[in-house]
Parts: sequence; structure tokens; C-alpha cells
Amino acid sequence: MNEVPNILWLEEIRKEDIPSVGGKGASLGEMASIGLPVPKAFVVTAQAFRRFLVATGLEDTLFQKMEQLDVENNEALEAAAGQAIASVIDAEMPQKIQDDIKAAYHTMSPEEMIVAVRSSATAEDLPDASFAGQQETYLNIKGVDDLIEAVRKCWASLYGARAIYYRSKQGFDDRSVNIAVVIQQLVHSEKAGVMFSSHPVTGEPLTIIEGSWGLGEAVVSGTVSPDNYIFDQRTEKVVDQLIANKKVEILPDGRKGTKVVEVSPSRQDAQVLSNEEVARLAMFGKIAEDHYGVPQDVEWSIIGSSLYILQSRPITTIGMANGKNAPLPTGAVQGKVLVQGQGASPGIATGKVVILMDAKDIGIVKEGDILVTRMTNPDMVPAMRKVKAIVTDEGGMTCHAAIVSRELGTPAVVGTRNGTGTLRQGQLVTVDGEKGVVYEGAVQAAPAAATAAQPVAAAAPVITATSVKVNVSLPEAAQRAAATGADGVGLLRIEHLILGLNKTPNWFIKNGKEEEFILELYNGIKTVLDAFPGKPVWVRTLDAPTDEFRNMEGGEDEPIEHNPMLGWRGIRRDLKSPEQFKMQVEAFKRLWNEGYDNMGLMFPLVGHPDEFIQAKAMLAGWGVDVEKVTLGIMIEIPSSAVLIEDFAKCGIKFASFGTNDLIQYTLAIDRNNEHLTDMYKPKHPAVLKLIDSAIRVCREYGVECSICGQAGSDPVMAEWLVDHGISSISANIDAISKIRHAVARTEQRILLEAARKNNAL
Ligand code: PEP
Ligand code: MG
Repeated sequence: MNEVPNILWLEEIRKEDIPSVGGKGASLGEMASIGLPVPKAFVVTAQAFRRFLVATGLEDTLFQKMEQLDVENNEALEAAAGQAIASVIDAEMPQKIQDDIKAAYHTMSPEEMIVAVRSSATAEDLPDASFAGQQETYLNIKGVDDLIEAVRKCWASLYGARAIYYRSKQGFDDRSVNIAVVIQQLVHSEKAGVMFSSHPVTGEPLTIIEGSWGLGEAVVSGTVSPDNYIFDQRTEKVVDQLIANKKVEILPDGRKGTKVVEVSPSRQDAQVLSNEEVARLAMFGKIAEDHYGVPQDVEWSIIGSSLYILQSRPITTIGMANGKNAPLPTGAVQGKVLVQGQGASPGIATGKVVILMDAKDIGIVKEGDILVTRMTNPDMVPAMRKVKAIVTDEGGMTCHAAIVSRELGTPAVVGTRNGTGTLRQGQLVTVDGEKGVVYEGAVQAAPAAATAAQPVAAAAPVITATSVKVNVSLPEAAQRAAATGADGVGLLRIEHLILGLNKTPNWFIKNGKEEEFILELYNGIKTVLDAFPGKPVWVRTLDAPTDEFRNMEGGEDEPIEHNPMLGWRGIRRDLKSPEQFKMQVEAFKRLWNEGYDNMGLMFPLVGHPDEFIQAKAMLAGWGVDVEKVTLGIMIEIPSSAVLIEDFAKCGIKFASFGTNDLIQYTLAIDRNNEHLTDMYKPKHPAVLKLIDSAIRVCREYGVECSICGQAGSDPVMAEWLVDHGISSISANIDAISKIRHAVARTEQRILLEAARKNNAL
């Protein structure tokens, strides 16, 4: 150990040097060694810090005090931390160490280079340890005196109250913990940010890049809402991007620090990265990931055409978010790809293909099969319950197969175009519902944990002001949905509760079997209400397009429509079919009468306030106390977004964006058409504009504003929605944890921004 010098240059460092240079230093050295564009740097080694402790006598005095400390006693902890920091700052740094730092600094550049000084805690016996609360950064340091002071401060940061507490709780001996300091040329970036080389939650090969103007600090600290780019490593294309409104940037203040300044209006909404820059960054992310063998969390920055990688460390969140076992490492599932589509429900399963071309043949589907069909229908749900995975030719992320599979926890790939043609009856295949791929045979490492119907464990309690609710369609999913810890149900699609009976609502009326229908509905809703005691449950009245009824008993009486999506569905149908509406209301009334006053009603496909008024009047006519119960609407048609103020004046208590439909009706893109998947854009500016303006009005009128479409299960969209003032988000069961984290992070950023603004006043 004693042979390690006080200073090591980046070029001399390899990953084995972590005990001397810390994780950050080692990672930079490694990256430089594989040709990544890392700015010039040297490290003041952990051994230099040790020599300082020995030379100043602190090694004895400091640790003796800490050994007697009760870290649960906050006052004592703060006092001890304060004393320890002061003694490190005040102690004389040995001249040799000062001289070595000085010489290295001058070698970096004969002029006084502006540098960033970052600490990196390390422990000899734990080569890859990284300690929370001990990663100090001082930016914009210029001149030897300031540099030495910054090194001293980094050393002292090892004894902050949080750091001492953390080490004690983790069972680390303070004596064995060291600190290295990385001194690196400060890149006065024009734009900068962070990158996850693979998806931070699922581990998919999707590189996620966040970027904003100025120094990367703005993105890392959450001061600014950055642009978000998603680059698919498989197709080497940018597959999604969200251009944020970037109000501020962080710039060097010309002295030691940085300043937050307003971004000029013309740059606020401008795109930070070109596709080419995204691709270059993603390539470097991939190089780092391949080299280290695990997905990386990378900081980057750009000046002119020069791109720099500032630091890289392993992502620690993969697989934690949804309570599942860690997913397979990137690339672990390998095999011959038979068909590809959209990954609509996560998980991996192996089984034999059963091709179902006609729902009447569902008898051929056996337990554990892989169901392959053109598109699922409600009458196929019994078969969907049996199978290990589902593959469809048609559809997108919001089609019947996608919605039901997610709820059943069954892996699904939709929109393969030719699954029924390519796959063979009885063929052994492996379905990856995350990546949207079907492989030939039993592909290695498809762990049981990643397959069907896993209980979704409650995430660690993350408190958010924005409610995070869950969507439910099947009563059997109620317990899994409740286990997510969701704040209620933002959408209960009741058509799935009764369509399992395989008879149309009209059949029950025609055959005088209304009570059978009412009881089925009552029981299904009750199961969900019982899983969410005291939490709001918004039950949506029937909404199934006529083509979904076609194969059922009574289906022959359904009108044949050219455009069922634009046809007789949702509230329109109920208003014109009072008997059908009344059967539903009878089930609701029984539940309200039993005291389930947490149940609210939501009307689908409402396009004009008159429809809400009419529905309310019908409910009142059937004996519902419409002023007492909670009634709201779905915003699924652009007209309801445009007229939201009129709805608010009619007394809706809540409105929920049904983006699955809102997108298709705004953009004229059929949500189920697999040929148009790339045009079905949840973040299309027109859709965002409608949502933004409707949220504003809802807030003005005190109307709870929510989302229950699939877009609410996308963390990037959730961030945007919270930024724009949404009151609640209802997501799929498998997405609750990641949505709650995205919401919490966004709320904290908003608070931080506000606090900083106040401080600046
Ligand atoms: C929607 O349109 O976003 C929605 C949630 O309803 P569905 O998917 O049932 O049409
Ligand atoms: Mg809808």
C-alpha cells in the first residue's frame, strides 16, 4: 500500500486500483484505457489521505471519538460530525502531498486549468463499495490554493453526519474507509446530462439519455426538466423523445462556483441533442457497458463537436422496481428469432405453440401453451388464463390482448403481423414479453420468476402528493393490484367482468336474465372494492366496441359497423339503450347501498356535456342520489378536452384521460393497427396540448384530473404530467412502482426548484 504514490494519472489507472483511486477514479481510468473521450484527470490517492491522517495524528484522535458515538442520537451525531470535519479542514496537509498536487496540476496545463474536484470513498476490503452521501463535487476550481482547499473539503466530507450514520448502519469500520479525490479538467459544456446505457428498470437494451443546456449539474441535481431521448440499441434508432421546457441552466460563475441562469426563450423549447449526437452517446454508453459487463449510469457533456464522458458507474436499480427478480442481463436470452412485435406484457415463458384462428375452437388450448392468434377477443379470456404467453398478429400496446395479458401477468408480444403464419402448431418457442421477441425452442435462462402471474410485491413506501392508482379489468387481478400499494383504482373496466359469461348484455335483456347479469357485475366489482378498502375505486360503465361482442351468444344481433372504434360504444350506447344502462346502475346501487361510498362512476367516450347531464338524469331517475355519489368522465375524444370547462360547470367531480382513445381520435391513427404503430405517438404535441389545457381547467375548477390510458404507465410521460399539474395517475399493475418513483422524483424536483427560487429572492 505504501508504494502507491500520492498522485496517479488516469492513464496509469485500471479497475483493480479501486482501493487507491475509488470507484470513480478507477472507472474513468478504465474508460480512458478503452478509448472513451474522458477529459484529462489525475487522482489524489486514498494512500495520500491515509498519510495525511497519520502525519496529523488524526488517525488516533478522530476514530477514538467515533467509536463511542451513538449514531441514533442526532445531536451527538451532528456534533461529532462537525468536530471531525473541522479537524480535517484545519489540519496541516503534509508538504509532500501539497507539492505533488501542485506539480500534477501544472503538468495538466501550464496555464491554470479550470477543474472539477470530486471525492470518491473507498474501502480496502470492499473493492466496489460506493458510499451514499460521500460523493462531494466542487466545480470550477482554478489555481493551486483553491484546488488544495477543495481536496481538503472532499476529505472532510467523509465525516458528514449522513456519511457516518450510513457507515455505522452498514457495519463499515470508519478506520478502514478511505477517500480518493479525482481532479479533472472541467468541461464547460454547452449541453450535458446523464445516460443509462440500458433501461434502468427493465434492463432492456434501450439507452435513455437526459440532456439540457449548460453544465450537467442541472440534470443531475434535478434543477431542470431535461429532454429525454430513447435509443434502441437493437435497431440503432431513436425510438422516442420528449423535448422539455428547459427554463434554467447552470453555468460557471467565473469564480469558484456556478450560477443558475434563465435559458433564453428561443432555447427553452429547442431540442438539445441531434439524432447523431444521441447515437454517438449511446455508442459510448454501450462501449462502457460492454467493457464493465453491467449497464452503466454515465455523465456526459458536449462542447461544439467534442463529446466527453465524465463518469460512469453501474446502474443499481435494474430489476428492483417491480418486485420481480432481477431480469436477465442484457443479451442473456439468445436464440433464433422467429417473429417480433411489441413487448406488451413483461416476462419470459417457454411452451408449445397453439394457433387459434377461431374463438370457437378454444377447447384446443391447453394449460401451459403459448397462445398464438390474430387478435384476442373477450371470449378468448378463459383460454388466455391458461396459457404461459400470448402472441398476436395484430394490435398495439392498448389492444385487448395487451390489456388483459398485463393484468393476468402473462408475457405477451402483440402486432407481430405474421405470428399465425410463421409459427407452427406444437412448435416449442420462448416468448420475451419485454423485448417483443419470439425465439425458437427453449431458450436458456428463462427463469420461473419472470413468468406468469407473479404477485407484485409492494414497493418500499414512497410517498407522493400525486395519487398513483392502478387499472383493473379482471377481478382475479384485484389482489395483485392492491399488493402494489396503489392509492386506489383509477379505472375498472367492467366489460371484462361480464364478457367472460360469453353473452352480450342484450342477450340477458332479451332472455329475461337481467338478474344474472347484475349479479355477475355486482360480484366482480365487489371483489375489487374489497381489495381497496377506503380507497377510491372509479368504475367505468360499459365500453366495448360492437366487434368485441360478435362471437358471443347474442352477437348476431349486434350491428355491423365499418368503424366500430367510432361507433356504438361507451356512454353513447348506454344513453340509447336504457335497459342496458339500468342493469349496470342496479349493480352500482346495491354496492352504494351496502356502504361502498368509495366507489365512483366514470362515463366513457363522452363527447359533449349534454351526455353527462343526460346520464346523470337517468341515474337520478333510477333512484341514485347523484349529488352524493362521485361522478366523472373520461377524456377520450378531443371534443371533451376542448369543452372541459363546460363539463366542469356541469358538476363533474373528476376527469380521466383515456389516452388510448384520445391519441387515436386526435391523430386519426387506429390504436390497434400494427402497421401504424410508429405513428401512434402518445407524446404528439397535439395530444400534449389537449392534455395540458384540460388539466389547467380542471385545476381552476377543483376537478380531480387523472389519466388511465396506457401513456400513464410510461415514467417519462408521468414526469411530464406531474410537471403539468395532474392530480393522479392510474397505471398498469406492472408499472406502479416505476411510476411512483417517477412521480416522487418529479415532485421533489419541483419542490427543490421552488425552494431555490425562494432562496434567490
Ligand atoms: C383509454 O381509451 O385510454 C382507456 C383507458 O380506455 P380503453 O382502453 O378501455 O378504451
Ligand atoms: Mg377508451
